[in-house]
Amino acid sequence: MPEPRGSAEGLRVAMLSMHTSPLDQPGTGDAGGMNVYIVEVARRLAERGAAVDVFTRATRPGQPPAVEIAPGATVRHIAAGPYGPLDKVGLARYLCPFTFGVLRTEAGHGPGHYDLVHGHYWLSGRAGMAVAHRWGVPLVQSMHTLARVKNHSLAEGDAPEPELRVRGEDQLVRQADLLVANTDDEARQLDLHYGADPARVGIVPPGVDLDVFTPGPRTEALRRIGLPDDAELLLFVGRVQRLKAPDVLLRAAALLLEKDPSLRGRLVVAVVGGLSGSADEPRRLAELARSLGIAGIVRLEPPAPRAELADYYRAAAATVVPSHSESFGLVAVESQACGTPVVAARVGGLPTAVHDGASGVLIDGHDPLDYARALHEIIRRPRLRAAMGEAGVAHAAGLSWSATADGLLGAYRRLVSGRAGEEPLTAVRAC
Ligand code: UDP
Repeated sequence: MPEPRGSAEGLRVAMLSMHTSPLDQPGTGDAGGMNVYIVEVARRLAERGAAVDVFTRATRPGQPPAVEIAPGATVRHIAAGPYGPLDKVGLARYLCPFTFGVLRTEAGHGPGHYDLVHGHYWLSGRAGMAVAHRWGVPLVQSMHTLARVKNHSLAEGDAPEPELRVRGEDQLVRQADLLVANTDDEARQLDLHYGADPARVGIVPPGVDLDVFTPGPRTEALRRIGLPDDAELLLFVGRVQRLKAPDVLLRAAALLLEKDPSLRGRLVVAVVGGLSGSADEPRRLAELARSLGIAGIVRLEPPAPRAELADYYRAAAATVVPSHSESFGLVAVESQACGTPVVAARVGGLPTAVHDGASGVLIDGHDPLDYARALHEIIRRPRLRAAMGEAGVAHAAGLSWSATADGLLGAYRRLVSGRAGEEPLTAVRAC
C-alpha cells in the first residue's frame, strides 16, 4: 500500500534549540522567528506520526524535565550552566553539559532511540555534531541566520558577530549531512560565504499559521487595539534591535506628517515587540521619537501573543520591515496573510516573503524618504491598498507550515534511508 503523503510514522527526531526555548514568548529576549518555526514544525511533524523531542537549556529553577506542546512533540529541559539569560559567547561555554544532557536523555530511552538530529542555530549545531556522531545518525542543520551575512550588513553601532561563531558555522557547513536554507538567497549565501556543497543544501521555505493570521475588518481590529476608526496605523513587529531598523519607520512617519498634514491627528506608529540585545534600544527609539517631534503618535508595545498580533496586522495600513539583514521575515508573511501590505527592505529572504509590487513594496537601502513615499502611496490610494491586501492573502496562502513540515520530512526520509547520495538534496524543494 502506498504510504500516505506526509506520513512520518515511527520517525524519531531530536531537535536541538539550546539558546532559546520554543516555550518562550516570541519578541522577548532571544525568542523570535526561530521559536515560532520550531513549534510549528514540531507540531506538524508530530501530526504526521513523528515523535519529536526539542531539547533546550533550562533557564529557571523548577522547570519540568518535559513539557508536551502537542501530542508527540515534547520540549525537554536540559540543565547546562546557571539559570537566567546568557549571551551567545557565555552559552558556548556550556555546550558540553548541554550535549551530555541530551546524550543522557537518550540513554534513558535505550540505544538507537533517535533517527536523526536537527540543530537550530549554530550553537545547537555544535552540540548536534557531537550527538549525531555518537548515535551514528544524520545531522540536519538550520542556521536561521549566518554570521558572515550579518557582518556584511551591520547597522551603524552594531558589534560584529564573534569569530567563535564564524568558525562554528564553518565547521557545521562541512559536517552537517543537510543544511536547510529558508530561501534561494540563503542557499546562495551558504555557497558564497561558506563554500557549502550545493548537494548538501536543501531549500525549505518557512510558513505562516493560516488559522491565526486571517484577514478581518479593519475598523473592528482598530477598536480592539484601542485606536479610533480613522487611525492610519504604521506597524513594526519584532525584537527591537538595530539590525531590524525600527528607527527607519519612525523617521519615515515624521517625513510623512511633513508631506501630508491631513494625516495629523490620524497617523499612529506601533512598535510591537520587546528588548533584544542591548536594553538601550527601546530607550533609544523613544528618544528618537521625541527628537523627531512624534512622541505623541508612537506606541511602544510589549511583545504580543499571536491572536493580538493578528489584530495589529489587520488594523494597520501597512507593516514596515526595514531590516538590514533578515533570513526570511515571518512578520512580513503574517501581515500579508491578514491582508495588509508590507513595505520592506530588499534584503535576505524578504524578496521571497513579499511579492514586490503586488502584495507590498521592496525598497533598496534604508533612506526614510523612500519608505515615506511608498507608505504615502498606500495610505492615499485605497484601491491600491485593497489590491495589495488581496495579493498578500494569495501570496501567504502558498506558504503554509504544513508545506514546511512536508519538505523537511522528505529530506529526513532520504537521509534516514541512506539515499542521500542518489539525488541532489536541492530536490527537497519539490516536496
Ligand atoms: N512575534 C510575536 N510577538 C511579538 C513580536 C514578534 O509573536 O510581539 C513573532 C512574530 O509573529 C514572528 C516572529 O516573532 O512570527 C518573528 O519572526 P521574524 O522572522 O519576523 O524575525 P526573527 O525573530 O526571526 O528575526
